[in-house]
Amino acid sequence: MVALNSTEKRLPHTRSKEFTSLLRLSADIGRDPLLIQASSGNTSVKLNEVMWIKASGTWLADAERKEIFVPVNLKEALSAVRQNREAPTDWETESGVRLRASIETTMHAVLPRRVVAHVHSVNTIAWAVREDGRARLTERLSGLAWCWIPYVPSGLPLAQEIQKALTGCPHANIFVLANHGLVVHGDTCAEVRRLLDFVEDRLALSPAEAPEPNYDLLACIAGRSGWSVPDHSTVHSLATDRNSRSIVAAGVLFPCQAIFSAGIAAVLPSCEEAAVHLQSESSQRPFFLVEGCGVIVNESMTRADMEMLVGLAEIVRRIDRSAPLRYLSEAELQLVLNEDAHDYRLRAAGVHKREQAPA
Ligand SMILES: [Zn+2]
Repeated sequence: MVALNSTEKRLPHTRSKEFTSLLRLSADIGRDPLLIQASSGNTSVKLNEVMWIKASGTWLADAERKEIFVPVNLKEALSAVRQNREAPTDWETESGVRLRASIETTMHAVLPRRVVAHVHSVNTIAWAVREDGRARLTERLSGLAWCWIPYVPSGLPLAQEIQKALTGCPHANIFVLANHGLVVHGDTCAEVRRLLDFVEDRLALSPAEAPEPNYDLLACIAGRSGWSVPDHSTVHSLATDRNSRSIVAAGVLFPCQAIFSAGIAAVLPSCEEAAVHLQSESSQRPFFLVEGCGVIVNESMTRADMEMLVGLAEIVRRIDRSAPLRYLSEAELQLVLNEDAHDYRLRAAGVHKREQAPA
């Protein structure tokens, strides 16, 4: 537990200009589905000895209307990293809401600049899941102080990788996390916003055009079986675009995908008999791809799941057909999905348990 002392508990920072700027920055990026999906991503600001960081399971989009930030004793968080342990911080807000600091608290702590933003940018991830991602970005990000961070689990392992990268490149302010996302840091929220926009511009990819979904057949397959047809057209490209379909049917590219999709996506044949598969399907799959036709989702799917599904569709639409991809290994997937050891991580993603969402 990283506790705050009584002086810090007075928390004058919550009314400071910097804190207000953080709320604005967080809400802005949280509302951009190309940067953040559901409760993914996190932001922080260091104000003297206290680092305010987004709480696990909360949505950045809510930053200006809900209490989503937790104060963490910065020295103690850094001490936790030195001692090779996580720095879980629970916090009860003035209105009695219990929050826990993001799983990425230690990563934010080791970044020396005042403001940190970690986003699940679909453009960045489309590059970050490639075997040749680092080489390709060397060209795209030339002239910028950036580092490629090989895939490691969230939490302390990621903090330690970032720390290692900073040793070799102390001025780096952009970190591309393989199979995960993007981190930038700067002295002010305005600087971080500019940096994010600049990187997004450099990494922008055009989404492939996908054939239209066959809504009639999808409705016929879904029937009254507890499944439904989403009306978000982007989602259907996962099944109607051949390249997207083959990418998601071949493995899991990033941790959030593993958590919300319950593993590798299943593909049903494009025919009315697919309804039989659905009715006999006893697993808790959140969605199915119907080959060339569109997507069917479990009626228990939450808004958070749907945002993640849209994010997945946006990412794979941006991946080149010939791209060599690095999927998460079985061991990496087990680590992400091992709830006993990592329920903290799953809460951070906020999309694992349907009753938690929107988290
Ligand atoms: Zn993340």
